[in-house]
Amino acid sequence: MYFKDHTHYSYNWNKPLKMIVNIGWLSSEHSYEMGDTEPEFIEKLTEIISNDDIYDYTFNRIRCNTPCNLCKESILQPYINKKRNLPARIPLGYCELLIPSQVTNQYYASPDLILHYIRDHYYKPPQEYIDSVMALDLTRPFNAQDCFEYQYLKDNRILSQLLNTLLDDFIKLRNILIAEQDNTWLSAINRTIADISSAIEDTSSADYFIESARDNYYSIQRRYYGFAEFHIWRENFEERKPLNEALDQLKQKIDDDFNAISDFFKK
Ligand SMILES: [Zn+2]
Repeated sequence: MYFKDHTHYSYNWNKPLKMIVNIGWLSSEHSYEMGDTEPEFIEKLTEIISNDDIYDYTFNRIRCNTPCNLCKESILQPYINKKRNLPARIPLGYCELLIPSQVTNQYYASPDLILHYIRDHYYKPPQEYIDSVMALDLTRPFNAQDCFEYQYLKDNRILSQLLNTLLDDFIKLRNILIAEQDNTWLSAINRTIADISSAIEDTSSADYFIESARDNYYSIQRRYYGFAEFHIWRENFEERKPLNEALDQLKQKIDDDFNAISDFFKK
C-alpha cells in the first residue's frame, strides 16, 4: 500500500481522516526522500515499536505478515531489549504506528515497517516526524488503537448525522407526495431514499450511494415540467399558500443537506 507523505489517512476508509496524516508508506514504484538519520532517532523508534506495558503506539494489528514493499522480504528487526539487556527481534509488517505530532494537533500513521525503511532503505522521514518521535514521553501511557478509533468514530458519527438528516427530509417529501396522491415523482423519490438508506447502512461506500441519490433527485428536477414545478393544489389560495411555502422550504433544506454532505467529503 502506497501513500504519499503528508496525505490524509484513508486506508480502508473512503473519506480521508483530517486528524491523521500518512508518513512512510513507501513503494518500489515511487521515489522517496533518502538520507541519514540520527542513531538516537532509530533507537527511540525501535523502543516505541518494541512496545512496553505503559504505552502502545501500535494499532490495526493483523495476524498475517506484510512483507517489505521494497525488498519483498519478511522482516525480523534485531534490537537490544533494554530491560533485559538481551538481543531480541521484532517482527515487522503486522501493524501500524500512530504518533502524536508535536508540530500540529494531528497524528502520523505509518506501517511498522517504517523502522526497516529507515534502517535498511535509507528512508528519511519529514523532520516534524523525527521531532515528534524524539519528543514522545515514554513514561506516559498511550493507547494508539483507542485513539485511532476515537478519531475514526468521530468522523463516522458526523457523516451518520448528515445522512440521517437527509433521509428524514426525503421521508417528509415522500409523505407529501403520498398525501397529494401524486405518483409522477414518487418512484424517483423512493429510489433516492433507497440510496440514502444504503449509504447509512454502509458508510464506507456512502460517497458512492450519495452520488447516485443526488443524480436521481436532481435529474427529475431538470426535466421539462420537472419536479421543480411540482406544487400542492388547493382551490383556496389561503390554504394553498402555506402548504407550498413549507414544500419550498423542504426542497431548499434538501439542497442544503446535499451540500453539507459534499462539504464533508471534500474536507
Ligand atoms: Zn526491505
